[in-house]
Amino acid sequence: MANIGIIGAGISGLSVAARLTGLGHHCTVFEKSRGLGGRLARRKLPWGQLDIGAPFLTPTLEETHDRLAHFCRAGILSRGRLQRARLVSGTLYEAPAIKAYWANHSNNEICHALAETVKVIRQRRIAAIAASANGIIHLSDDQGGSCGDFDAVILSAPAPQTLALLPETSTLRGQDFPEMQPGWTVTLQFEEALGLFNHQQVIDFTADEPLVRGVDLATLRQGEPLHCYQFQLSAPFSQLCRNGNEAQTVEAVMAALARHSALPPLANATVQPWNLCRLEKPGPALNILDSAHNLVLCGDWTAGDSGIDAALTSAERAVDAVTRLLERQRELPPPLYSP
Ligand SMILES: Cc1cc2nc3c(=O)[nH]c(=O)nc-3n(C[C@H](O)[C@H](O)[C@H](O)COP(=O)(O)OP(=O)(O)OC[C@H]3O[C@@H](n4cnc5c(N)ncnc54)[C@H](O)[C@@H]3O)c2cc1C
Repeated sequence: MANIGIIGAGISGLSVAARLTGLGHHCTVFEKSRGLGGRLARRKLPWGQLDIGAPFLTPTLEETHDRLAHFCRAGILSRGRLQRARLVSGTLYEAPAIKAYWANHSNNEICHALAETVKVIRQRRIAAIAASANGIIHLSDDQGGSCGDFDAVILSAPAPQTLALLPETSTLRGQDFPEMQPGWTVTLQFEEALGLFNHQQVIDFTADEPLVRGVDLATLRQGEPLHCYQFQLSAPFSQLCRNGNEAQTVEAVMAALARHSALPPLANATVQPWNLCRLEKPGPALNILDSAHNLVLCGDWTAGDSGIDAALTSAERAVDAVTRLLERQRELPPPLYSP
């Protein structure tokens, strides 16, 4: 069985690791952060624990529903419809509900369930991939430390981070890597409920707003801090926030909200700078297999989109590609002569 290195413990990297472990391979996942989950991460704050990335998942593919059903049966996810409104010129209009899955306790539980059978090494940022003539790939971290030798390596980091890691001679470099936009989130806790939400769980803002979407987190799951709302910022607004500090970002979000609603006193605020949040626009799926270097790409963007459909599709494509790669490695070279 093969020894496989996986870069990134987001849902796609962990899914591919869990599947390959189930097929009998030995997988090691390297994650640069302290926690698992990538864009599904949870953060411990002085005022509570929060999911700071996707507040819920919105699959449309039947295969994704089938895969998420497993987490529903395990009591990790719930499935349903979220009440939604659109805010147009200061007026709220009812909008079709969102069909979604959301974590009963935390997105982290999805990632921990996937990581149960897999070796994950956290706080280890892979900085270099060196392929040798015998097909073995050596990984090292940003401190110059060795992370081991592997028969195949799967890269599941966002597009620019993956591009930075690919060897200069990799054929995968010859294709157009998609641009990824920033999409910061600001989570605000007020001392009372925010009137703007009324009976809505999700509010979508119009395109000219600095805010894209607001989500009433406490209606999604029990145990979430009360009167706590996540606001997703538009890409241009997120870009602007990169020049300011956290207090200025919170102030700008409060000012945007105050244009639409009276605001109760603010109790707590947290800014999460997602600089590589989603693709600028959906595009074609990428070629993911470099059989000369035994490298495979994974991650939602490799399937041409952002979101759970693309993330899980990318994991399936990566499992197929690695399986083909290992089969090819096992094939004996043709005999030089027959006696
Ligand atoms: C605010 C927000 C809202 C969203 N809303 C929705 C939604 O409504 N519906 C939906 O379906 N999806 C939504 N998503 C998208 C969804 O979260 C992603 O599609 C999915 O989590 C991507 O998973 P991934 O594993 O492909 O990538 P990631 O989660 O980005 O995982 C990549 C991992 O690689 C690690 N890494 C990077 N470089 C290195 C390195 N050199 N060494 C080691 N580790 C490295 C990163 O730390 C990260 O953990 C949202 C995301 C965000 C942020």
